[in-house]
Amino acid sequence: LRSKILRSEKLEVVSHLAASISHEIRNPMTTTKGFLQLLKDGEKDEKNLEYIKLALDELNRAEEIVRDYLTFAKPANEKLEILDIKEQVEKVIAIIRPLANMNSVRFDLCLRSVHIKGEQSLFQQCMLNLLKNAIEAMPNGGKLEIHIDAAPDGAIIKISDSGCGMTDEQVRRLGEPYFTTKDQKGTGLGMMVVFRVVEAMKGRIKVTSELGKGTHFIIRLPRVV
Ligand code: ADP
Ligand code: MG
Repeated sequence: LRSKILRSEKLEVVSHLAASISHEIRNPMTTTKGFLQLLKDGEKDEKNLEYIKLALDELNRAEEIVRDYLTFAKPANEKLEILDIKEQVEKVIAIIRPLANMNSVRFDLCLRSVHIKGEQSLFQQCMLNLLKNAIEAMPNGGKLEIHIDAAPDGAIIKISDSGCGMTDEQVRRLGEPYFTTKDQKGTGLGMMVVFRVVEAMKGRIKVTSELGKGTHFIIRLPRVV
């Protein structure tokens, strides 16, 4: 019980932080990176080079955090609207395809037009974070299956990868803020966003995973009434 309470307090803090970050943070970050890169190219001193490299690494980390939260962030508050899951998923696939190609991941798609109610940017962020994890779990290639189905009570989205899989302990910790197995490259915030968005849409998530075989997400979202 105690750990549950701690966990929800952590969630509260993180989501407040996220809400106060504007997507405009990206522009100054890109500028800063550009100038640091310039300094790096002209620098001879070992010590200074090390400092610049550290600064660039930290900026890259900040960029990852922004990506996990704010890829689709809109300046204004969005309203709930009727979304076609197929259309939304296709937009996200277009964005993630270069990463998939880099990892030799091929898509196996079976997308049907099913309608749900939600905020476009949040739903896209949720899908992006799931697909990004799936692709990152297959650094040596594999298959990423995305199926959208209609059930009597709503939509079913299945996302399966043939990647590294997870231990039971890792599955249990999914969605815990800052839980990552990717060291410096991970934020451990992507799944927290996924769970929050699905919860806000009154949906459910089921995860099954086998180490070395792959991972299977089933997301159920209520139908539009
Ligand atoms: P990050 O991707 O930055 O590590 P996430 O919250 O997105 O943070 O994911 C947390 C952890 O959950 C990952 O580090 C990874 O260990 C595990 N994970 C999530 N999705 C998958 C997946 N499809 N296959 C294997 N492991 C996964
Ligand atoms: Mg992630």
